[in-house]
Formats: sequence, C-alpha cells, structure tokens
Amino acid sequence: MRLALARALIPAARASSIRPTPRAPVARRRPSLRSRDRPGFSTRSSSFARPAAASAAMEVHQFPCLNDNYSFLLHDPNSGATAVVDTPEVAPIEAALAERGWTLTHILNTHHHWDHTGGNEELKKRHPGVRVIGPARETKGAIPGLDRAVVEGDVVELGAIEARVLDTPGHTAGHVSYHFPSERKIFVGDTLFAMGCGRLFEGDAETMLASVRKITALPGDTQVYCAHEYTMTNAKFAATVEPENAELARRVRETEAMRAAGIPTVPTTVEKELATNPFCRSDSEGLRRTLGMEGADDVAVFAETRRRKDAF
Ligand SMILES: [Zn+2]
Repeated sequence: MRLALARALIPAARASSIRPTPRAPVARRRPSLRSRDRPGFSTRSSSFARPAAASAAMEVHQFPCLNDNYSFLLHDPNSGATAVVDTPEVAPIEAALAERGWTLTHILNTHHHWDHTGGNEELKKRHPGVRVIGPARETKGAIPGLDRAVVEGDVVELGAIEARVLDTPGHTAGHVSYHFPSERKIFVGDTLFAMGCGRLFEGDAETMLASVRKITALPGDTQVYCAHEYTMTNAKFAATVEPENAELARRVRETEAMRAAGIPTVPTTVEKELATNPFCRSDSEGLRRTLGMEGADDVAVFAETRRRKDAF
C-alpha cells in the first residue's frame, strides 16, 4: 500500500515541475477520469454541494484558519497528489491532512500576504518533496520557499487534474487564481469574496475590475473559493448600495441564517456573485442611482463602490 502510494506520487510531483507540455505519458499511466464518472461514484469527502452535472473527481476539504481565513486541501484520489491552497497556519493544515490520511505534495499560493504564505517554510520542512507554486509577479522573494513561479496561461497538474493559472492582480501586484475547468472550481484568494472583493493594496480600480471580470466570465455554476469568511459584513454593505435588489435581500437573510448556524458561506458561485455582489454589478442601475453616478463609466462606479466599502 505504501509502495503503491509512493509510486503514484512520483509522476504527480514530476508533472507539476513541467510546464504545459508532457500530458500524454502522464495520462497513459493512469486510468481515465471518465472511468470514474459512472453514476453512483462518490468517494468525495467534501461536504459542499456540487452541481449534479459535474463529472470530475477532485476532492476539496475546506477548513478555517486564523480568525477568518479558509484553507483548502485539494486531493486527486487517482494519483494521491494533494495540494493546499494557501498556508495561513500550519497546525490546522496538518490536522486536516492527518484526518484525511492525505500526503501533501503541492502548495499553491495565491499571493504574498503572510496569512496566505506563513506556513510555507514549515510545511516544506515537514513534508520533504512538497513543491511550492506561486505567482511570478509578486515582489521577488515574497513567496517563501517558491519552487515554481507561474503566470497566466500556465498549467498546474494535480495528478491528471489540471488547473489553469489566471493573473488576477489588484489586491496585490502579482495575485493569481487557480481555475480547475474540469471541476468547475476556482480558487481566488483575496480577489473576489462573497458579495465583496479584496482591498486595492497594490493595484487600481481598473486593474481589479479586470481581474474580477476574468473570474465572473467563467460559467455561472463555477464554484468560487474565497480565502476569507467576510460574507456577513459584505452583505450588510451590499444592501446599502443596492437596496432594491431582491435577490441580494434574499441572500442577506440566507447569509444571516447560515452564519448563525456556523455554516461557511464559501464557496460561492459566479452566478450568485453576478446577481448580488456590487463589485460585479458596476452596470446596475440601482447601484448607480445610490452612488449618484448614472452616467459614469464602470471603472469609476467600481472605484466609488470600493471607496465606500473601505469607509463602511
Ligand atoms: Zn491578502
């Protein structure tokens, strides 16, 4: 058993170090994903709802870290490869790995902030062979232990499951998101939140709006994994700038109930954000009316929405 797992992990680790090309040999060594798409196949440990049409098999385990961060373990049951998306805190990540019986093979960082990279060095020490993959466009050296620097268009492989890298700057200069098209999932760090978006620390409104639009251009049922549970505060703000949005009012009530019951509001979906997130709705007449910006361009509306949220 141990031998089999070790053998399975080797191609996965090698694949991650190679840029997009050598897919064929990797794919040939493994059973096709399709063979596991049969009805009734379900070994996923994620407790989060999946669209019925989804056919891929990456398991996602989400857990809280620090005050309001989330971290995510992504596991390919086929190869045994396991990635953690951001490393806010070592102990909860180790506990999650132990609970699942998974062996860490990759760290995927979205951006350089300490509450996303703080555990990199320690996890590398504890898990020899783990590869740190992170944004190329952050300040040099900002991602501790970085092994592979990625930019938009690069492909990261978790076993046979592929993530496409999207550049989503604005919160930081080099922020990236990891999109798994076959899974209809994207890990967006601090770029987009449920009913909110990241603060503009290293980018302007135009840059951030372009990043948000890259995410919301994905299919509506794409699950969006944000790195913080900021939803209740975001909901309260959103309601002040779009008071006539009935779908938003409904979601505010739903969020209150979920949080009161201790239920995470992450992941969200592209569809939900397009309907209720003021940072995805710069063209909304209601939002523009509240801001007194009926004739303004989308970037100006986005910038004013962000300014008001910063002061909320
Ligand atoms: Zn951040």
